[in-house]
Amino acid sequence: MLFFFVTSPTKSTTVSYPRNIPTMPFVQVSSEDQNCDQCSKSITKNEIMIGVARSGWGDTWGQWENYKAWSHLKCYAASKSVKKPMTTDGLYGYYWSSKKDKLKVMNELWPNQVSDSEKPKLILPKNINDMTCKELKLELQKRDLRYSGKKQDQRDTLKN
Ligand SMILES: [Zn+2]
Repeated sequence: MLFFFVTSPTKSTTVSYPRNIPTMPFVQVSSEDQNCDQCSKSITKNEIMIGVARSGWGDTWGQWENYKAWSHLKCYAASKSVKKPMTTDGLYGYYWSSKKDKLKVMNELWPNQVSDSEKPKLILPKNINDMTCKELKLELQKRDLRYSGKKQDQRDTLKN
């Protein structure tokens, strides 16, 4: 049976790979009741949810499909199995979200970040050259900047 499946030309041509799904996680307000990928409980209409792109064998036999798995914002934030974006530009749809929704997402995913109006007013607590990696990371998180890399990379990001 397996041999037949592998060699069947009709089956191999039905495999399709949709290309229009962003690979980064995305945020959206739910338009209908659906189940959370993490806790399996319902995500109610108008609730903020986070989607991740997944792929697997779909309901139609022989069809490889890309799909979005949705989670409650809190479930996504608490999950250890999903990789979370370091900054807001790693979350598709965040930019277009309402101010209120942005704040909710920020509090869950980037709790150290300050509001956009406070960001320009931030000052470093001490000389940048005396700061530890941990301190640099916190300052970068406050400003919605990437904090990966070596200490010198962190300093450079913070200076720019
Ligand atoms: Zn959930």
